[in-house]
Amino acid sequence: MIAIAIDGPAGAGKSTIARLTAKKLGYLYVDTGALYRTVGYAAWQRGIDPADPDRVAAMLPEITVDLRFDQDGVQQTLLNGENVSAEIRSPEMSRYASQVSAHKAVRDYLLWLQRKLAKEHNVIMDGRDIGTTVLPDANLKIYLTATPEDRARRRFDEYLSKGVSVDYDKLLNDIKQRDYDDSHREISPLRRAEDAKLVDTSGNTLEESLELMEAMIRRHLGI
Ligand code: C5P
Repeated sequence: MIAIAIDGPAGAGKSTIARLTAKKLGYLYVDTGALYRTVGYAAWQRGIDPADPDRVAAMLPEITVDLRFDQDGVQQTLLNGENVSAEIRSPEMSRYASQVSAHKAVRDYLLWLQRKLAKEHNVIMDGRDIGTTVLPDANLKIYLTATPEDRARRRFDEYLSKGVSVDYDKLLNDIKQRDYDDSHREISPLRRAEDAKLVDTSGNTLEESLELMEAMIRRHLGI
């Protein structure tokens, strides 16, 4: 099986680029952020403080988190068998995800599922610690980033196109806060794996980033 790990901060274009590239190559695209969002959502539903490691850990045996892929390879996220793919996308669930993701119990709980998917499929997996922790032996590791302003602008446009109204400055602050939290947590912090290729998409159009990514993958894997 072939595994491509794409890590980087929020809004760098990881999910769009990974999804479209995976489709082109016939690989499965796995969005691991959805798993942390789902655990965050489960905490939110139960009124549990996402920053409380003990209460979040005690909740885990009560829930099941799973991913399904339809025939087009589109990922659906299930919480206790119920499709929560839409519910987990709000800015509030971004914050919940970031907070629950700092707990060791949560990271351990989700590790097995991520590794299982990579064992069974050729994958492009995106997240924060795929190259460093989840798939340290991935065939190719990419660290995708862009300036915070560029990333906030992209998130802003994304929400706008879905009809969700958000404030740009608030998004920018949220992104900076999440960058800080994700890269300063004790367990599996966001960082570039030593053997990951750095791709900075600041100022690029989506098409430019896609071309760059596909060329890099084909060159590296000889496909
Ligand atoms: O990628 P996305 O923005 O959906 O991820 C939501 C949050 O989940 C991130 O801010 C991060 O805290 C956490 N996450 C993580 N490890 C991953 C993927 C996401 O800690 N592999």
